[in-house]
This record gives sequence, C-alpha cells and structure tokens, in this order.
Amino acid sequence: MALKDKIKKINKLLVKHFGIPKRPKKLPDPINTLIATVLSQNTNDKNSYQAYQNLKKKYKSWSEVAELTKSELEKVIRVAGLGKQKSSAILNFLKTLKKRNGKIDLGYITEMSDENILDELIAIKGIGVKTASCVLLFSLDRNICPVDTHVHRTLNRIGIVKTASPAKTFEIINKHLPDGIAHQFHTNLINLGRAICKSSKPVCSICPLLLECKYKHKNLEKSDSVNVSRFLLLDSI
Ligand code: SF4
Repeated sequence: MALKDKIKKINKLLVKHFGIPKRPKKLPDPINTLIATVLSQNTNDKNSYQAYQNLKKKYKSWSEVAELTKSELEKVIRVAGLGKQKSSAILNFLKTLKKRNGKIDLGYITEMSDENILDELIAIKGIGVKTASCVLLFSLDRNICPVDTHVHRTLNRIGIVKTASPAKTFEIINKHLPDGIAHQFHTNLINLGRAICKSSKPVCSICPLLLECKYKHKNLEKSDSVNVSRFLLLDSI
C-alpha cells in the first residue's frame, strides 16, 4: 500500500476513536503561535499556557516584550522551565523581526510558500523546524504536520516510518500527507501518544490501531480506561 494510503487509513481510525479535533474560529497570529511553541518545549501544555498567559497579561504588545532584559523575561516565563534558553530564543526572534522589517510583524509570510516560510523562520537562531511548522499549521492552516516526540514515536511504532529523528519523520510524512488532514492527524497522534501509546508503556489492549500497528513490543495487558486530556495549547491561545 502506498504511504499516502496508509496515512489515510490510520487517520480514519484515529478520527473514529478521538473525533475531529476542534479548532478556534479565528486562528492565532503567527507570532503568538511561534512564542507559545517555544514556551512549550520540554514541558506540558498547562505550564506553557500559564507562561504564555503571564506574558499576555503583563505586556500590551510583543514590542514591549522585546525591550525586556533576558532575566526580566526569564522571571515571567519561569513556570515553563528552561527559562534561559527560552528567553534567549524569544528575544532573539523579536529583535530579528524588528531588524529585518522595521516592525514586529509576521503578516508578510502569509503570501509565501510552505518551504520559504520554513526557511525564513529556521534561519533565526533558536527557532527549529517544529516551531516553524506549528506556525504553518496552527496560524496559517497549511497542510503541514509538525512532528514532536509523540508524533515521531507513534508513527515509528505503527510502522508508517522507520526513522531515527523527528526531523526525518517530518520530511517523509509531509511528502506523503493527504490533502486537508494535517490538523486532525497531528492532534490525534498527540492524543494517542499522551493517553495510549505512551513512551514507557503503551496500552495496546485499548488502542484503535492495534490491528494495523507493526510494533514488536506491544503491551497487551488489560486496561479499562485512560485519561485523555484534550487541551491543546496551540488551539487555545
Ligand atoms: S498498538 Fe500499541 S504500540 Fe501500536 S500504536 Fe497502539 S499503543 Fe502504540
């Protein structure tokens, strides 16, 4: 079966199990998505949402944030962890935008191709492919599936890809992604990875992909229920 058809089949099973994830009527500004994604690295959505809210409540604009010192910003976003790294990335991003365009605005990328947007954003120190691809999906509604650790792990276990890094998974999956499914596929793989196909011990006995999955070390112990948190940071900002 062609990879595109396999993805379609897995997506269908995930939608049947988790449903079609809701999206906000008005998609967030690209700068908001980019900063929220930086805040979300290596922490949970609750903490990164709190750090994002701290920033939005305390400052009127991203221009105000750009004037902060690293340690001032670090204090405000502390709850999300990795304060030094995240404050450097955010300040560098905001200052680079101002230097490039004379203002802190990413409106100009809306006319650009997916590839050019990725290149434009990852050229900024501290911004990786995952962050840039979240801007494409969550703010610009492009058919691009960002690959985080959950998406990388689940796609490898299922057997859709056989890759050693999220970057390689991203490259392959997005070459073969059927039209119009990026948001549901990405979100439902995260739901699966968080609640069922967990890193340490997957709960295969209740997995909607059990019959399709090629993972050799399935855990078939009985389990009645799992806790699925449907809160997704980038659809909530
Ligand atoms: S069957 Fe098990 S390993 Fe495969 S996707 Fe489901 S939970 Fe993950």
